[in-house]
Formats: sequence, structure tokens, C-alpha cells
Amino acid sequence: MAEGHAVIRWARRLAPLVGEPLVHVQMPKRWGERPQTLVGQRLLPPRTHGKHLLLPLSGGETLHCHGAQYGSWQVGERPMELRKEPKHVRLRLDTADHEAVFYHGPTVELLTPDELAAHERLNRLGPDIMAGGEGSPDFDRAEAVHRIRQRGEDPIKPVLLDQRVVAGIGNIYASEGLFLARVDPRRPAASVTEAELDALWDATIPMMWDGTTRYGRTETTPREMWDEGHTRWVYQRKNKPCHVCGTPIELVRLPPYERATYLCPACQR
Ligand SMILES: [Zn+2]
Repeated sequence: MAEGHAVIRWARRLAPLVGEPLVHVQMPKRWGERPQTLVGQRLLPPRTHGKHLLLPLSGGETLHCHGAQYGSWQVGERPMELRKEPKHVRLRLDTADHEAVFYHGPTVELLTPDELAAHERLNRLGPDIMAGGEGSPDFDRAEAVHRIRQRGEDPIKPVLLDQRVVAGIGNIYASEGLFLARVDPRRPAASVTEAELDALWDATIPMMWDGTTRYGRTETTPREMWDEGHTRWVYQRKNKPCHVCGTPIELVRLPPYERATYLCPACQR
């Protein structure tokens, strides 16, 4: 699952193509001849908002990609051996020396400036947890608190996954962040205090930036714990002892999507 940290990783990987003229563009069939109009244009620096990747082009249009559950990018020097079967390729961008391939992602669309400005799904997104970059975090906490409050009695964990509330947090970081903030994921969203939410952001944001530097597993614990195999606080640790208090970790499923949620019933209140 591509949480916000993975999308930032993708944006970084596309760096070798930025500024270079595109020599070949492949998009899903429904775009007809439009991809050919992009040949000769240059890719401008990618932008991200939560789990959405935006690739602006020198001609003024923007490619919008969303990876959902299985989307992934492969970027390399030409010629590149594809990691997956060609039928899974949703978008392919080639420059003279590099190519970038987006697999599986359900969203690949080319937007004019007007279409981008009026994009309903993008406009509804909550503040981006990764906004501002690693050294200058610019996450709009007040707006996030406002949107969380509006969700009243809904349990806080699924509320955090709703991209209209906060953009970029996925299932792993929501469980891990709530553990570090000592907040029970079942609590009504409106009951979580601003101080508790501050603790949540303070724990989650650096954890996610740390995640932008690594591939594969999502480790959330400090490195000194990894040697003992302790790479996560609660996620996928059902019935294992809490690293803080020893209480068995519980798995609960919360509406509306019943995603797996892990917690320590003693540490989180
Ligand atoms: Zn505990």
C-alpha cells in the first residue's frame, strides 16, 4: 500500500527524467492520441499531495497518478528490463537516457490546468501530512483538527485513514502513530484532544519521513530495536507482548472498512 512516504520516494526516483524531453509516452488506451502530444515536452519537478503524484509537463498539462493498493514505479536507464508483464503497465515515460514505468495504479490521467484546478477528488483532500518537506514541515494541524472534530463519534483510526481528513496516512502509520501517542484507536474522533493529536503528528511525521529513505518493510521502531526483530510497535503483532508494557497486542476491526487495527489495550487510552 502506497502511503504518503512511498509517493515521495517515487517522486524522488523520477528525478533523472526531470528537465529532459520526453521521446515516448504510453498511457491507457482511452487517452487515444493525446500521449503523442506530450512527446518533446519536458517533465517538471513532480509534486505530491498525500498519496497522489502529480507530474507537471512543460506544455502546461499535468499527469495525475494514484497507486491505491498495488501501484508501483520502476525507474531506470534505457533500455530497462521491465519488472512486470507489459499488460500491467499503466504509464510509461521515456527520455533519451531514462525510462519510468507505472504499474497497476488505477488512476492515470492527463489534466489541463483548468481540469487540475477543478479536480473534485484532489480538491477534497485534507491537509498533507508530508507537506513542506522533511526539513520544513508545513502540515496544517489546525485544519486537520477541524476536520477530525467534524467526524464526531466515528472512531479516530479510520478517520485518520480518510484522505479527506488528512492526506497521506495509511494503515500502518495510523496504527503505529496512535500507539506512540497513547490514543486508543476506537475513541470517538471528537474526544481526542489537541495535545493528543499534537503527540500523534509529532510521532507520525518523522516516522514517515524516515520511511521515505527505505524500501521494502516499513520499520517504525528505533534502529537499536531491529536487531531483536522488533521493527514495529503494534502493527501485525497480534498477541505478541507490547514492547513498552508486555500486554498482548490486540487486533480490532473498525467501521466503515474493517481494516486491521492493532493496539496495546494497556498503553493506549
Ligand atoms: Zn503496552
